[in-house]
Amino acid sequence: MTVLANGISDLPLIAQSVGNYIGGSWENGETESFISRNPANGQVLAELPKSSRATAQRAIAAATAAQRDWARMSAWERAAICAKLGDAVEANKDSLARLLSMEQGKPLAEAQFEVGIAAHGFHMAGEQVRYMTGEILTGATPGRQILSVRVPRGVYAVITPWNYPVNIPTEYLAPGIATGNTVVWVPAPSTALVAVALMRVLADAGLPDGVINLVLGEGATIGDEIVSNPGTHAIGFTGSTRTGRSIAERGAGKPMVLELGGNGPFIVRRDADLEKAALSAAIGAFSNSGQICAATGRVLADAAVADELAERIAVIAKSHNPGDPLHQGSTMGPLNNAGVAQKVREHVDEAIAAGAKCLTGGQALPELGSDLFYAPTVLTNVTPQMRIAREETFGPVVPVIALDGDDELMKVAADTEYGLSMTVFSRDIERAMAMAGELKAGFININEMTPFWETHMPFGGSSGTKSGLGRIGGKYAIEAMTEIKSISIPVPLYGKA
Ligand code: NAD
Repeated sequence: MTVLANGISDLPLIAQSVGNYIGGSWENGETESFISRNPANGQVLAELPKSSRATAQRAIAAATAAQRDWARMSAWERAAICAKLGDAVEANKDSLARLLSMEQGKPLAEAQFEVGIAAHGFHMAGEQVRYMTGEILTGATPGRQILSVRVPRGVYAVITPWNYPVNIPTEYLAPGIATGNTVVWVPAPSTALVAVALMRVLADAGLPDGVINLVLGEGATIGDEIVSNPGTHAIGFTGSTRTGRSIAERGAGKPMVLELGGNGPFIVRRDADLEKAALSAAIGAFSNSGQICAATGRVLADAAVADELAERIAVIAKSHNPGDPLHQGSTMGPLNNAGVAQKVREHVDEAIAAGAKCLTGGQALPELGSDLFYAPTVLTNVTPQMRIAREETFGPVVPVIALDGDDELMKVAADTEYGLSMTVFSRDIERAMAMAGELKAGFININEMTPFWETHMPFGGSSGTKSGLGRIGGKYAIEAMTEIKSISIPVPLYGKA
């Protein structure tokens, strides 16, 4: 398979390797292929292998072959390798960010931030694993003790989406390998080229053969293979709720982390600082063109302040400058693919047809270079029953729902199948804390945007919701990607032996 140039000739990083990476070798022998395009202009970036199940099975075999020796290294040795990988990602930040911008569509500054976070992720996993601890339990039986130690799960199946295609994989790859697992990684097809580039950086930085294996192609084929194959022992998946359900079925019985969709309510009480609330809502809804699982999905505002808040958000929306993400001055890029663009159009058009008022945006901007550009949009007169309020839109859209008082705000916030992130804005911190205590979500931000997050905090959906299960981030990923083994040992008693 070959890179078809078009603007990436300045990326020697990936020029020699645009295939699968299995057992330490780059491969491109698949009979079928798919194309990666720049969403800002439709240009072809690369032709990549559409791998078969047989290729995924070979990757599992390579990960299996590497796992014993990798797990036998000391945690401190693996930590040192993770630090080298983090350094390498940091050293290649500019070229990785450029490619990320070009293939995913986010502005260069956002891409640089993402790559920087990924570099930190490898360092953090190394630091965390160094200080991983077990326990020694007292024995009920005289002369015995129980050692309880954390051990790797084995071969991990890791499947990742296109919205943060450098950092989300790192959230599994780094703690996964730091703890002694080996990995087969299937990235999303529409950002497969930047996955290749990241893999190339890691491989060149001294990652031992077979520790991470990259397989490109369709999730329904190779993703399904690595999830269901008995050769993998555990699953790390970030993506849609629909795919998460399939993975839960196909991988039933394996330990898994599922990081799924969200539709974060952004609750604004009547006493809130509206200037700060408007800015937080806008950042939470327009960053990465709204393609964030923890995005501000819907603004629930007290009716006393809803209009003013919506006007303020609209002013920020109008100040955005959508355009080619590589151009200086572009503050928002295109949506990543046709599927997400269609969903955004449908949600907005249906809402307007049902009576929502569009303060700004509400349309695609094909004149910017492709049908995937969508104007930052603010809607008022939205009702809780509209699809835009009930489902994850995943686009640069702020639907504002006006409600009467805290009880209504809480009722509508809770009336959702999702439970990932939520925000409460209020000057009354005690009241906001009480509301946060009552809401069902994996994380809640008071007087901050819904996607506010730090790399070491536990991240994941609330139990019983469509937002997934398990936690990643910092020590929580180390815990999730290991299991506890108990070894009972004799403790010789002096004078009794
Ligand atoms: P998606 O579910 O369509 O695809 C995710 C990955 O799964 C891709 O690599 C895809 O190839 C693969 N896949 C598809 N079908 C599969 C199957 N049958 N078996 C195995 N793998 C399969 O999701 P997407 O559109 O790429 O990502 C957007 C979604 O991800 C949104 O819903 C968003 O909220 C969610 N997301 C969640 C988080 C989180 O941390 N909770 C973070 C980012 C994105």
